[in-house]
Amino acid sequence: MSKTPFITLDKANEIIEKYPTPFHIYDEKGIRENVKALYDAFSWNEGFKEYFAVKATPNPYLIKILNEYGCGCDCSSKTELMISKALGVTGDNIMFSSNDTPIEEFAYCNELGGIINLDDITHIEAVEKACGKLPEKMSCRYNPGGVFQITNDIMDEPGDAKYGMTTEQIFAAYAVMKAKGVKEFGMHAFLSSNTLSDDYYPMLAKKLFKLAVKIKDQVGVKISFINLSGGIGIPYNPHDEACDIKAIGEGVKEVYDEILVPAGMGDVKLCTELGRYMMAPFGALVTKAINEKHTHKDYIGVDACAVDLMRPAMYGAYHHITVLGKEEAKRKEFYDVTGSLCENNDKFAVNRKLPTIEMGDILYIHDTGAHGYAMGYNYNGKLKHAEILLKEDGSFELIRRAETEKDYFATFDCFDIYDKLINA
Ligand SMILES: *Cc1c(COP(=O)(O)O)cnc(C)c1O
Repeated sequence: MSKTPFITLDKANEIIEKYPTPFHIYDEKGIRENVKALYDAFSWNEGFKEYFAVKATPNPYLIKILNEYGCGCDCSSKTELMISKALGVTGDNIMFSSNDTPIEEFAYCNELGGIINLDDITHIEAVEKACGKLPEKMSCRYNPGGVFQITNDIMDEPGDAKYGMTTEQIFAAYAVMKAKGVKEFGMHAFLSSNTLSDDYYPMLAKKLFKLAVKIKDQVGVKISFINLSGGIGIPYNPHDEACDIKAIGEGVKEVYDEILVPAGMGDVKLCTELGRYMMAPFGALVTKAINEKHTHKDYIGVDACAVDLMRPAMYGAYHHITVLGKEEAKRKEFYDVTGSLCENNDKFAVNRKLPTIEMGDILYIHDTGAHGYAMGYNYNGKLKHAEILLKEDGSFELIRRAETEKDYFATFDCFDIYDKLINA
């Protein structure tokens, strides 16, 4: 898939005049078209809902756009629940898919009326303690163990993942929950991340649908919603093929009609907790080339670093890079594109074929809209940078300001570094 930036060099320069590099920029138009296509692909399922995985892009301005189309929030921490609350997203519009959960967070989620999606059977007791009694509507997270594969392709190894309950546990959990007064039940599983196969959701759905039928037959619990969670991937690399969301929706419908409908479960609502698929392609990290260095290799140093985008350092992930204004230029150099952390893995690209880069050139790092800014941290005393929204009419708005030194020192209350030392 060819990769084209959603801004030109001229637009970038216009924005940089007001907000200096580096920054993440998001494309409102792309976000809107994509969420519409998702809802369209699942329009056959009455009550379908996407709970956006807040962790992927925890910016209220962006999540608000998704809310307009009926998306709720998938949260897994107190502050994520607070973002949801601040957006007016409460009750059934919250899915709390946490793990290793502190008991107070169950209580807080319950206060907001959110749906608690239990990661473990022992949490039944914790929720009872936190909430007085079990809420009427709850969900359980499933982990079948072993490997998850499509034909011969191993997609992931659930047996190695810390999440969810075993088959035996999930049967027991539903029975206990029913005995303790739960009235409405959901089921959830997340078995593979960043999948590029249109078969992932249908395969996962098949597993969950079959389990739901068994649970109805053996436990007498009727599952009313099934949560396919996240995991639909995006083509980070130009060699990757994008998923076809329409085909994914149709693939899930086929197994729904094959398994749930004949079992008298044709009213089961589906939901998703997509993060990456909703936002990643619609964000980019815009950064300036500020140093070049020619030693054993050729390096281009930029003004962003791994604190702005951790995926390459953390997973060796590929993020495509376009040098703005040089879109058509021949890629004839091999560069390592680096940030300034004192960590040799702080490289956005290694041995990457790029056009000749001059100091001051603007690099556009693609697909940073999810798990980009969100994973940022303050290593090496680096400050987090701004987030900007490119609106549909071409204007732009600051949706999160850059951190300042004062923000960085704000938590050293006992030393008062900023006021006593720096302002002195
Ligand atoms: C991370 C996560 C998601 C979103 O995953 P993506 O790969 O971004 O789609 C959804 N649900 C849960 C519970 C998660 O932890």
